[in-house]
Amino acid sequence: FHQRMESSPSQDEIGDLTVIFNEMMDKLEKSFAQQKQFVEDASHELRTPIQIMEGHLSLLNRWGKKDQLILDESLLASLQELDRIKYLVHELLELSRAEQIQKGDGEVSADIVATIERVLKNFQLLHKEFTFIFDTRGNLTHQVGISEHHLEQILIILLDNAVKYSDKEKDISITIEEIEEDVKVVIEDHGIGIPEDQLSSIFHRFFRVDKARSREKGGNGLGLAIAKQIIEGYGGSISAQSKVGKGTKVQFILPFRHGGQ
Ligand code: ADP
Repeated sequence: FHQRMESSPSQDEIGDLTVIFNEMMDKLEKSFAQQKQFVEDASHELRTPIQIMEGHLSLLNRWGKKDQLILDESLLASLQELDRIKYLVHELLELSRAEQIQKGDGEVSADIVATIERVLKNFQLLHKEFTFIFDTRGNLTHQVGISEHHLEQILIILLDNAVKYSDKEKDISITIEEIEEDVKVVIEDHGIGIPEDQLSSIFHRFFRVDKARSREKGGNGLGLAIAKQIIEGYGGSISAQSKVGKGTKVQFILPFRHGGQ
């Protein structure tokens, strides 16, 4: 018969545990507050199209049977607002999915050159007034540690922005470069640019420099937040440089697939 002797924790140990516990509680509280803020922001974003739709539906209800013009206009406007709501819900789901990407998803891989070429071909077909230039520096033979679907999603978000926020200059370039264990992708446009004091906010959810312009182009301020979430999920990073009236450079870095060649 052995009696287990357990020494009681010392004052120091209790002190250490208290610090750890308090830090954990702080993190939890912060995360709850962020979650609450997100729900508030998302509800706010949904409210605008719902209110506009409500206005048109009540117009239709009152005048729709008698007035053909109101019938046509309000029906069209309601359908457009419904599209916005559907797109917003879709993007919110994409953001939520992107948050679930784990670094362990590193088993997947994509051929970065082939993926960029494919996406650019589609953009060129859709936006004939633009010239898309692709520059690969050196010989990139490695596979990148990201799923093809996610790489495509990031490229579409960034190229879409380059197109949306370009006025007169219609040249958009993509450059890729190998840096040790990573690949760096730079997308550069010569569009309207972003004021320096707002540059650090563009990756925040729902942030838009010019809300009216973004809305007019069908944006909702979630694209870059989704791109950042996906890239960080795969252990990469994203940043931007810009000059108002000159253009914007967005660059992201992703690791090559481990064990790949
Ligand atoms: P949005 O759907 O509004 O485009 P994003 O999250 O993709 O949302 O971008 C956030 C904001 O950053 C945009 O509303 C826009 O003001 C600014 N922005 C993003 N990319 C560019 C760019 N290439 N040129 C100028 N402004 C940009």
